[in-house]
Amino acid sequence: MKTENLNALKSAIQGRVMLPDETGYDESRAIWNGMFDRKPALIIRCSNTKDVQAAVNFGRDNNLLISVKGGGHNSAGTAVCDDGLMIDLSQMNEVKVDAEKNFATVQGGALLSAVDSETQKSGLAVPSGIISHTGVGGLTLGGGFGWISRKFGFSIDNLISAEIVTAAGNIVNASATENDDLFWAIRGGGGNFGIVTNFKFKTAKIGTEVLSGPVVKKFENMKDYMQFHRDYVRKMPDEMTIWLVVRHAPPLPFIPNEFHGKLVVLVPFVWLGDPEQGKKLIQPILDHGETLGSGAGMHPWVGWQSAFDGLVPHGARNYWKSHHLTGLSDECIDRLREYALTMPSDECEIFIPHMEGAPSRIAANATAFPHRNTPFVLNIHTRWQKASDDKMALQWARDFHSATKEFSQGVYVNFLSDEGAGRVREAYTPDVWDKLVRCKKKWDPNNLFRMNQNISPD
Ligand SMILES: Cc1cc2nc3c(=O)[nH]c(=O)nc-3n(C[C@H](O)[C@H](O)[C@H](O)COP(=O)(O)OP(=O)(O)OC[C@H]3O[C@@H](n4cnc5c(N)ncnc54)[C@H](O)[C@@H]3O)c2cc1C
Repeated sequence: MKTENLNALKSAIQGRVMLPDETGYDESRAIWNGMFDRKPALIIRCSNTKDVQAAVNFGRDNNLLISVKGGGHNSAGTAVCDDGLMIDLSQMNEVKVDAEKNFATVQGGALLSAVDSETQKSGLAVPSGIISHTGVGGLTLGGGFGWISRKFGFSIDNLISAEIVTAAGNIVNASATENDDLFWAIRGGGGNFGIVTNFKFKTAKIGTEVLSGPVVKKFENMKDYMQFHRDYVRKMPDEMTIWLVVRHAPPLPFIPNEFHGKLVVLVPFVWLGDPEQGKKLIQPILDHGETLGSGAGMHPWVGWQSAFDGLVPHGARNYWKSHHLTGLSDECIDRLREYALTMPSDECEIFIPHMEGAPSRIAANATAFPHRNTPFVLNIHTRWQKASDDKMALQWARDFHSATKEFSQGVYVNFLSDEGAGRVREAYTPDVWDKLVRCKKKWDPNNLFRMNQNISPD
């Protein structure tokens, strides 16, 4: 990089150009997963779309490896690169809501917390994820699901349009009527096709409080409870979402003290209808076997959306593996139980969202998120603190993942770690993959955007 080029860049943009050792550089390159300590040669912290355009042009013209940081949350660490250019969108976090017309515009670096707090001023929400410090950018481009997706669809199913800076440095819009191939590709194909500077989402009316909360079951009854759960949750109307988490109990007031720090089965849920009807639907869960405690009640949506944040704060070492599960057979439950008992740390979680509902009624190839019909997802959240435990923790996650492979079908691209090119393909069906490659050839023929779950144009 020539000094005069850098100086020209600095004066051309409103945001900041940061070199190693400059103020803000370390803060900017830090991401959620403490496993990654990468040092870009240069960071451009953008303030607006024009800055992003200048950054893309600069990276391309100087042959720099480019990484894009939205919320910096991806467990694979792709937001930050060594020796290249990191384009940091974190200052582009504005959210505007048009409550009358039912849409929200969200800048590419906003966090879910910003979307929730702004939409909730009008009792609205955008379907997204369950941890409020996740970035809208990465989450949406991979698909985006959470507590209200069964009722309202994935984040991509609510995307109306996007403003994108392409590899060629053009600013284009993508929607059902403009660049529709690009619009299709960014709904599941990740950050492969350009940098999204603005998303426009349809909003859903949910009010400001929802019946929600975790019910807590004894770990020793895990098999019996899961045998009930696997059928019960699949009978629920779309308004009800019930997940399952096996972890060591946090010190919540409604869990008896003697169970704090012990393995338990958490059954968090969200109900979007009449509270009395929701309570009736949750009662069989409370009644099945022994219940250790329940936090069920009316909770502010913003509070519920950040209720799990404290369990997954920034900085810990993480290695996440995942796949969609075709069901929860007795054999599968036995395997889950076996690995629960050998968790390498008390921070690990076995997270099992229930999917189906509205997303599964959308055709598999309508967007680039084809695995819409598997009922459950298995997320192996491996978290620990010390680098000296890396080998043990990674091995546990890999063994656990292999041991449950026979019950799986496909994977959600946003839950992949660095697992190689072959594994990225498992996030897609062959027809969707072929179409993604065609789009990549058109929109990013030289694979400028390759610090991601990469779809190579070759
Ligand atoms: C604790 C935790 C909880 C999670 N919960 C959920 C959940 O409930 N539901 C769910 O669906 N997913 C969930 N995820 C997965 C999450 O969707 C992905 O990690 C996602 O990539 C995070 O987006 P980000 O912008 O924060 O990531 P980043 O690490 O900043 O970005 C990841 C990649 O996305 C691309 N990218 C990001 N922003 C842009 C942009 N504006 N334009 C172009 N490319 C961009 C880049 O390729 C980048 O490498 C969770 C992840 C974690 C770690």
